[in-house]
Amino acid sequence: MKRIFFPGSFDPFTKGHEAIVHKALDLFDEVIIGIGVHSNKTSFFSLESRLNHIQSLFDHTRVRTISFQGLTVDACKKEECSHLLRGLRDSKDFQYERSIAHMNYDLRGIETVFLLTDLSLSAINSTIVREIYQNRGDISSFVTKDELLIKRT
Ligand code: ADP
Repeated sequence: MKRIFFPGSFDPFTKGHEAIVHKALDLFDEVIIGIGVHSNKTSFFSLESRLNHIQSLFDHTRVRTISFQGLTVDACKKEECSHLLRGLRDSKDFQYERSIAHMNYDLRGIETVFLLTDLSLSAINSTIVREIYQNRGDISSFVTKDELLIKRT
């Protein structure tokens, strides 16, 4: 059973993230999506709504969604995943991700698999989606089933 761990804030989980998971399902038997929860970083959408939202998008036999604290590599090992998954939109993502990937390899010997975003989804960015939502804009072009997202109180 080949399993890959997809970590992120997913605040919110966009159509870009969704496409990366579908691509990974062509390569791995299971994808575990890990929402990182960090005490010094508060999220905009509640953890519960992000978990429910992501779970509603996939076939539960092949995609599981969890939250985790601490090191990504430790969560990856705990979930018995052999690889980490990250999506790349552009060279800026690559520059940032390559350092993290090298450090994760040094820490626990875990390789990161990078998948390129579809060109049509490469402009989607969770921070901008949040800003549109905060200003009462329509985010349905960027997020599937956006009605399931509930703002943190
Ligand atoms: P983080 O806070 O860890 O950067 P994000 O939730 O912003 O988490 O992103 C998680 C992963 O998804 C990262 O690998 C990021 O590069 C990737 N990603 C973000 N937006 C997109 C997109 N539009 N298409 C594909 N991948 C994306």
